[in-house]
Amino acid sequence: MNHEERLSKSLFTRLLNVKGAVVEDARITDSPLRPEPVLEIRVRPRRGMLRCSRCGRRRHGYDQGGGVRRWRGQDFGCWRVELVAAMPRVDCPECGVVVAQVPWAEPGSRFTRDFEAECAWLMTVANQKTVSGFLHVAWRTAGDIARRVAERAKSMMPSPFDGLTSIGVDETSYRKGHTYLTVVVDHERHRVIWAHDGYGRDVFGLFFQALTPEQRASIRVVTGDGARWIDSCVHEWCPNAERVLDGFHIVSWMSDALDKVRKRLWNRAGHDGDEKAVKRMRGAKYAVLKNPDQLTDRQRGTLDAIGNTDPKGQLYRSWQIKELLRNLLKHPPEQAEGELRHWIFWASHSRIPEIVELSKKIRRRRPDILKTIRLGYSNARLEAFNNRIKVTIRMAYGFHHVNNLIALVMLRCGGLDIHLPQPRT
Ligand SMILES: [Zn+2]
Repeated sequence: MNHEERLSKSLFTRLLNVKGAVVEDARITDSPLRPEPVLEIRVRPRRGMLRCSRCGRRRHGYDQGGGVRRWRGQDFGCWRVELVAAMPRVDCPECGVVVAQVPWAEPGSRFTRDFEAECAWLMTVANQKTVSGFLHVAWRTAGDIARRVAERAKSMMPSPFDGLTSIGVDETSYRKGHTYLTVVVDHERHRVIWAHDGYGRDVFGLFFQALTPEQRASIRVVTGDGARWIDSCVHEWCPNAERVLDGFHIVSWMSDALDKVRKRLWNRAGHDGDEKAVKRMRGAKYAVLKNPDQLTDRQRGTLDAIGNTDPKGQLYRSWQIKELLRNLLKHPPEQAEGELRHWIFWASHSRIPEIVELSKKIRRRRPDILKTIRLGYSNARLEAFNNRIKVTIRMAYGFHHVNNLIALVMLRCGGLDIHLPQPRT
């Protein structure tokens, strides 16, 4: 072996950035996994570093019978990097003869830990297209990576269930509305602390069962929509906690009513053969439902067109009533109280049947709504956080397992310590 080869090996060992791993060879060559050549790095665990891949304990080597495997690493310039290693087996008294752990990757993963860390970090700040395009990974594969990284990050953090004082629960549909995900947030620390497939009393009960009696006892406020299953769970598991409606759900009652108005007008226009109105109503769904500051240019144009052609029409007036409600919820309690009275008057005299109906519900729930405002569960910050959760759930369409969806929610909204890989010295 000449001097240059030794130099490049020690340099590549440093570049690999994995404790307990040694580079044996690095070259640009064809890969069995892809059409173009790759930078192939032949690597092995440092001697005496064999561990069982099941239990992680240090074990004696058994043989070289595990075969040769490949892992994708972080790109080196424009070159894809693949690590190649023989997989020795260990003789583990507890797990039997199993393949050894490698220090650069999780068991079962085809990616290095640093690649996964980079991918996960990117998933917290960028959308699906950017992550897949920049890293050249399928979005489904990124979902598997999210799961592994979230599990690692979670295991290194103190329990998110300690010191809870106020929590919120919400169920959101995913996969186009057929399946539900229950998400529990910590209002104080603005993070998701738990999520589970399904919804209802039994599912929310699983959350409380994961808590110790002390952890349950510290909870003082539980927010959510008006569902009975939330009431009965709170009654069963933390009877001292106060039940509060969250602002987001009050707005969603209004959004439902607004969408009913739009559908009725759409049907009527179709019945009357008014082609222009049919088109306007069909295209208006998101323009009227979304917050004005989140509209695309096109949706903004649609909304302006409705306001200009028919400012006294039922759809535009319903939209104004929605915005009024949404905004008053964020005002200081004294101001909001007067505005809510005014709102109920306006809505109940609107002569729009769906809105009149809603005004009765709002009048009935007025004390609850004022409590929400007074305790600060309708502010813009909570709304923004809730939107982030919803956006994340939508991002995870296409993942093949709900656990990957939950992992993405934890990565982006769970307050986990996610950072880019750092050089190890
Ligand atoms: Zn073992």
